[in-house]
Amino acid sequence: MDEDGNHQFNAKVINMEKQMLVTKIDNGTVIDKIPAGKALQILRILKIYDTVEFTIAVAIRVDSRSLGTKDIVKMKDRQLSEDELKKIWLIAPNAKISRIEGYEVREQFMLQERQFNNKFTGVLTCNNPTCATNHREPVDKEFLLMQRDPILVRCLYCDRVMLESNIREQL
Ligand SMILES: [Zn+2]
Repeated sequence: MDEDGNHQFNAKVINMEKQMLVTKIDNGTVIDKIPAGKALQILRILKIYDTVEFTIAVAIRVDSRSLGTKDIVKMKDRQLSEDELKKIWLIAPNAKISRIEGYEVREQFMLQERQFNNKFTGVLTCNNPTCATNHREPVDKEFLLMQRDPILVRCLYCDRVMLESNIREQL
């Protein structure tokens, strides 16, 4: 192929990529401005596995004017609960959420606008084997978010501090 032909081919590929990313959903949710590489973790948080029965588009490391690269998750016919929003906020506090209805954006907000408190109840499990929250029921599994980058949380029962790597295994 000559040089011009190559250019045309490349342009076509880029066009197809753009098309895939901007394909509109009629109803559902778009999670945008996810830190690059965290989209799969968000799917885990939302318990979306290979058994999923609705349409999802996941874009990883796409160009972003403001972030350099970012991830995007689009889900057809799927809404997010407050609980799920807070879990996403834990790992992607600057994510932008759009609720789509009839191809229109009905609601749009940045997660950080929600001003969630730093307490997580019933989301994480303490990794201290002797912690009462792992033995006595009902003792609430409560954690305080101490630091964001990297994430540090503290068990409010036994004061065990868990690292981002410990939490990632649980999300
Ligand atoms: Zn504990």
